[in-house]
Amino acid sequence: MTLVRRSSTSGTTSNMGWLKIRSRDLKLAMDDRFFNPAVFHDAHGKPRTDAEIIQWCEAEAVGLGMRGVIKPSSSLAFSKFGTTFYRSILLPSDYADRPLWRNAVLWAHEIQHARQWRGYGRGRFAMNYVLRARYRWAVEMQCYRTSVRAYLHLGHDPASYIERRAKSFMKSYSAGSLRASSVIKHTRGVLEDATTYAP
Ligand SMILES: [Zn+2]
Repeated sequence: MTLVRRSSTSGTTSNMGWLKIRSRDLKLAMDDRFFNPAVFHDAHGKPRTDAEIIQWCEAEAVGLGMRGVIKPSSSLAFSKFGTTFYRSILLPSDYADRPLWRNAVLWAHEIQHARQWRGYGRGRFAMNYVLRARYRWAVEMQCYRTSVRAYLHLGHDPASYIERRAKSFMKSYSAGSLRASSVIKHTRGVLEDATTYAP
C-alpha cells in the first residue's frame, strides 16, 4: 500500500506525506564514508573508462563476498533497475543492451550499496532500510551522489538525472509517509552538492 498519489491535474506527486526531511537525515544523506574515489581513478590517478569502472566494481564485489546477477526479464518494474540485496547485486534484465556508460553509473551506485550493507551491518541496514522511509531516502542519496559523480566523470550532464531522481523518489521507493515537497527539495540540494566533485 502506498499513500502517494499522482495528481491528475499537474502530473506531479501530491504532498500527502507528513514526514519532512530533518537535519539528521540530511547529515546521513551527505555522508560520503562509503564513497570510494578509486571507482573513478586508478592508483596512479589515471581516470577509469566506463568499461574499467565496471570491471573494477565487479572485482570489488567479489572482494566483498558479493556477486552480480542479471534479473530475469519480466513485465514487472522490478526487472528494470539495479538492486543490491544482501550478497547479490541484481542488475536490470536489459543489462546487456544498455549503453556501457549507464552500466558504469549503475555499478558505481550499487557497489556503494554493497559497502553500506557491510559497513552499517547487514541486519541493521536491512531493517532500517525497510522500516524507515527517511533512512531509505538518506542511504539512497549517498549512492545517488556517486551516480551524479559518475555522470560527470564520464562526461554526461547530470542535471536531468537529478531532476528525475528528485521527482521519482516518492514513487520508486514506497516513501508514502514522506512529504513530497520536502523530498524533492532536499534531493535536489543533496545531489546538486555532489556536482562540486572534481572528476
Ligand atoms: Zn540505490
